[in-house]
Amino acid sequence: MPKKAAKAKAKSATKSARPAGKSSKKSKSSKAMVSKPWTPAEVREVFERFQKANPEPRGELEHLNPFTLLVAVVLSAQATDAGVNRATRELFKVADTPQKMLELGEERLRDYIKTIGLYRNKAKNVIALSQKLLTDFGGEVPRTRAEIESLPGAGRKTANVVLNMAYGEHTMAVDTHVFRVGNRTGLAPGKTPLEVELGLEKIIPSEFMLHAHHWLILHGRYTCLARKPRCEVCLINDLCRWPEKTV
Ligand code: SF4
Repeated sequence: MPKKAAKAKAKSATKSARPAGKSSKKSKSSKAMVSKPWTPAEVREVFERFQKANPEPRGELEHLNPFTLLVAVVLSAQATDAGVNRATRELFKVADTPQKMLELGEERLRDYIKTIGLYRNKAKNVIALSQKLLTDFGGEVPRTRAEIESLPGAGRKTANVVLNMAYGEHTMAVDTHVFRVGNRTGLAPGKTPLEVELGLEKIIPSEFMLHAHHWLILHGRYTCLARKPRCEVCLINDLCRWPEKTV
């Protein structure tokens, strides 16, 4: 292959494992080259293995009810679940409803969450979304994607997490881990989180959709790590399509 064409091909493969619009630092681990599409039987096999290994996967964001889940997800943007949990453990003791959050007020809320990145903006959003929940939704977290997305600080991923974890809907929230796993494995290659989300929804059998989001997140967080994937202990290493897998 001429040098120029090879360079362009490599660049496109690297970009395809990272959400469009993010930094495109070169990384071996971010390539996504899909040689052969997955068969329905193979997809089923993957989720049967995840299910067998962890029948009831749990999200790691601590919460007490749909409202505190919503707040935790809004706070978790560009932050770790562990960091959010450290802050919300105390916060939710005093503010576990929209009304109590408003009574706490933005200034005191900021004190509880100041260890979390972008906390000033997040505090503003949490107060504004609490207000909107009271004004427009009777103090309850709504059950539709459009309504959740209308809340300050809540986007599509937030809506998908809340719908799935609070209301048992078959949604697929795509965070950085799910995005990487979807691309590397070849299960659902896509240049944007939305492409990966729709790709996964299309291929995952309905019976696995309730937990699929957590299985994929946990797989990305603990096995298919960004820099050094642990292919040697990976449950699906025989099926994974990533050309750089180490087994
Ligand atoms: S074999 Fe497993 S850990 Fe390795 S790249 Fe594939 S999915 Fe990730």
